[in-house]
Amino acid sequence: MGGRIFTDRRVFEETYVPDILPVRDKEAEMLLNRYTSRFSEGPGATDITVIYGSIGRVGIGKTTLAKYVAHALQEHLRRRGVNLRPVYINVYGAPSVHQILSGIVSELGINVPVRGTAAIEMLKAITDYLYIKDSYALVVLDEFQSLLMSTRVSNEDLYMLLRVYEEIPPKDNVNRLNFLLVSQDFKVLSYMKERIPQVESQIGFKVYLKPYTADELRAILEQRASLGLADSAWSHDIIDMISDYYGYSETKGGDGSARRAILALRMAAEMAEAEGAIRITEEHVRRAISTDAISNVPLDVMRSLNIHELLILLAISTLIAAKGGWLSTGEIKGEYESLARAYGEEPRRHTQFYEYLKDLSNLGLLESRVTNLPQRGRTTMVRLPPEIPADRLREVVESIIMDRVGGPKI
Ligand code: ADP
Repeated sequence: MGGRIFTDRRVFEETYVPDILPVRDKEAEMLLNRYTSRFSEGPGATDITVIYGSIGRVGIGKTTLAKYVAHALQEHLRRRGVNLRPVYINVYGAPSVHQILSGIVSELGINVPVRGTAAIEMLKAITDYLYIKDSYALVVLDEFQSLLMSTRVSNEDLYMLLRVYEEIPPKDNVNRLNFLLVSQDFKVLSYMKERIPQVESQIGFKVYLKPYTADELRAILEQRASLGLADSAWSHDIIDMISDYYGYSETKGGDGSARRAILALRMAAEMAEAEGAIRITEEHVRRAISTDAISNVPLDVMRSLNIHELLILLAISTLIAAKGGWLSTGEIKGEYESLARAYGEEPRRHTQFYEYLKDLSNLGLLESRVTNLPQRGRTTMVRLPPEIPADRLREVVESIIMDRVGGPKI
């Protein structure tokens, strides 16, 4: 049996953005109003909006707010006869400006070969296209701090991208390519000030998002439940249990993540469905929360690590988030060394590097095994324990590092 719990599983997917935001609606409206007046007046906007969160917090609606605003704006403006195209690009791992522009080109469907075309030419093609189509683009650059921390992207590149109207003055004085930057926490502002002060001074709006309170999570979960679960399958008690557990307040340590709260509801629902139950019970919720608790990243342990151990963990979580599986220690060492240099730390030698790997594994943050590789013989391979999600670990480590050494020295 089964099939009595879910009515629509899609609303529990990570990338799902609801049509109406039950929380953050005020922030969304403020941004929408502002953009709407800018764009319907004509000259476009030369200022930049930055959405950022609290240190070490993820799943608090930064991406959701940005995507929602970009799409809602498209709708609003369409009704006024203005054509705006939302574009979403996650710049984690710092692609080159050329790659970012290729992303914009392909999302807008512009017919220009991206291979072999210089960045500036692509930028021209984009601005020409928008001019000819009398359109605007609002480009969301998610994980923007990643670009600022990269040594591969020069300040000139960043200026060219973010101040395109300086580089290629628009024929009709209308700036058609606009950016909405999404970043982990407020440190993005000081990195911008250091690297690209002229863009920093153009920030019009800064939207700071806090972790969600229990009440806010309740509103989010109720919306998901009513969209994705059968009415008879859930109750307000169930939602309360989850939102109270994850909700953030000054006195209580829930991490305020909507992502984890939604996932817990989904897991409880999956368990109920797998058992052929007709409703989600408190016991399902307990099991879902405890399963999730194991996969919680051990923050205390992480904060006790030294900068090199953190950089090694950052290297490992980045590689695993990108491709999964087991990593060779050589591969980890390479990534660690380039990260260390980016942060202005002298990479530790071979022996010390292996000591650190051993410490991390003693702390339960890594698993290792010895494999016989045909070419190289016995080799140690490393991965994260299965209960630690690589992308979450990566975000947490990155923000602890930024806290500790104040970002990369470029
Ligand atoms: P962040 O970018 O801060 O890490 P996300 O925007 O990815 O967080 O949100 C994580 C999850 O929580 C997503 O599944 C998203 O749909 C959901 N979510 C976050 N904020 C809201 C909100 N205000 N309303 C509805 N769902 C939300």
